Amino acid sequence: MAKAKTFADKVSKATHDFTTHCPKCGESIVSAKLVTSEKSTKTGAWRFNEKLVKLCKCNERETIK
Ligand SMILES: [Zn+2]
Repeated sequence: MAKAKTFADKVSKATHDFTTHCPKCGESIVSAKLVTSEKSTKTGAWRFNEKLVKLCKCNERETIK
């Protein structure tokens, strides 16, 4: 049966050699660049923020929406 690929699976494949593993879920922890957009209440212009996040099974659901 085909397993659905998650975002973290794809990232962990690319960075397989230098990942550490989460003591909680046992999955490799990957660093991913998360880009969030935010609309300024003052100017009404969109701003984009880049943030480096550590992802594993414990938090990927909450982190990537
Ligand atoms: Zn975990």
